[in-house]
Amino acid sequence: MRRVLILAAVGLSFVAATHAQAPAQPAQPPPQVTVIRAGRLLDPEAGTVRTNQTIIVEGTRIREVGANLTTPPGAQVIDLSKLTVMPGLVDAHNHLALTYKPEPESNVYYFTYVQDSTALRAIQAASNGIQMLASGFTIVRDMGNNGNYADTALRQAIEQGWIPGPTIINSGIIIGGMGGQFYPTPEMAKDHNIVYPEYLDADTRDEMVKAIRQNILFGARVIKICVDCKPYAYTADEIRFIIAEAAKAGLKVEGHVQTVNGARSAIEAGIWSIAHSSGLNEEMHKLMAQKGVWRAGTETPMGLAGHPVTPQAYQRTVASLKNAYENKVPLTFSTDADYWVAGKTRGEVCLEFIKVWQDAGIPIADTLRAMTINGYKVSGTEKTRGPIAAGFFADIIAATGNPLENLDALKDVPFVMKNGLVFKKDGVMTPAAFFNGGPVNGWRIR
Ligand SMILES: [Zn+2]
Repeated sequence: MRRVLILAAVGLSFVAATHAQAPAQPAQPPPQVTVIRAGRLLDPEAGTVRTNQTIIVEGTRIREVGANLTTPPGAQVIDLSKLTVMPGLVDAHNHLALTYKPEPESNVYYFTYVQDSTALRAIQAASNGIQMLASGFTIVRDMGNNGNYADTALRQAIEQGWIPGPTIINSGIIIGGMGGQFYPTPEMAKDHNIVYPEYLDADTRDEMVKAIRQNILFGARVIKICVDCKPYAYTADEIRFIIAEAAKAGLKVEGHVQTVNGARSAIEAGIWSIAHSSGLNEEMHKLMAQKGVWRAGTETPMGLAGHPVTPQAYQRTVASLKNAYENKVPLTFSTDADYWVAGKTRGEVCLEFIKVWQDAGIPIADTLRAMTINGYKVSGTEKTRGPIAAGFFADIIAATGNPLENLDALKDVPFVMKNGLVFKKDGVMTPAAFFNGGPVNGWRIR
């Protein structure tokens, strides 16, 4: 009893002390106002370019967009009158905490997670995020294979203002039938649990609920499932069950799909998005268009150094994308670029993927829509982040050329703004303003 009293007294004095020492809130400085003079302003939704536009950014958000706006006193003026200004790009499928490479793991990602710790991968994810942002990707959907929640750590670090990076929509650990995408030995699977943390085994409905809740608890913003990585694929009923469980927390579900039967089940269940195209034939495309299922086809180009794609495989990829377009499937730009290509940043590797869209004959305006507008929609940010319009977060990039005339202009993006802060200007990254020492948005946020 005495001990309790003493503890209570200590507790009280601690409370009193913290109250007495609570500093007065420092006066917030008025938000920085930035005026961007855009020589050309590209609107991907309309597929048009307007000349001589002004964008006024206040703090983190866009205040006004138009011609002949007056510059508020004290505003910082950024002259992009020679560039094409446009909203940021989206990669709807990547893995920023995974970089497999020829050495030491012969480009086999099964080995990457044995050799690279989650801590190391999280730091690499931070670097990859910076590389993506430097190429104009302001949103990345990070779809699993990130060790023990390195994807959540990356998102938190960016949201806390510790490092610059794209807005991350992360999936946590991929949920699948026993084994995920791995083929472990019984010893490694049963004695060493080697499938985890790259995959969460969920074979029964109880396990599905637990797996989804674990991901949500540890910071997932979307749920990723392996629909048919194994012969014991999820049925349409099981996928429906998973979608309903994820929806309780407002999360959508993306399915890794590699067979036609898997695609049929996923589409029938009403899945949000399908990753990869090997299971998508014309019939599936028609069903996806009918149901409004997003396609994250992850179309790999030919000729990436160290990542050979056969001409036959490439032809199939191009034909499938073309077929999806012709059947009016909702398309996103997605790369799955989770490997190192010598001489290129992660962002530069991703931009190589526009070649597939060019070869598929997709009109430039529609590819740009996939890379922006559709990317915001599949990410669920379309009401807050993406479009260059009043009230939206100021994520703004600028290309030297005009991407609406030539998509390759996206490979030369000398200006990037994220959340109203200039990240890159005149081709030089100037991220100092992004780094904050503490948890500026509250440490309890996960
Ligand atoms: Zn992937």
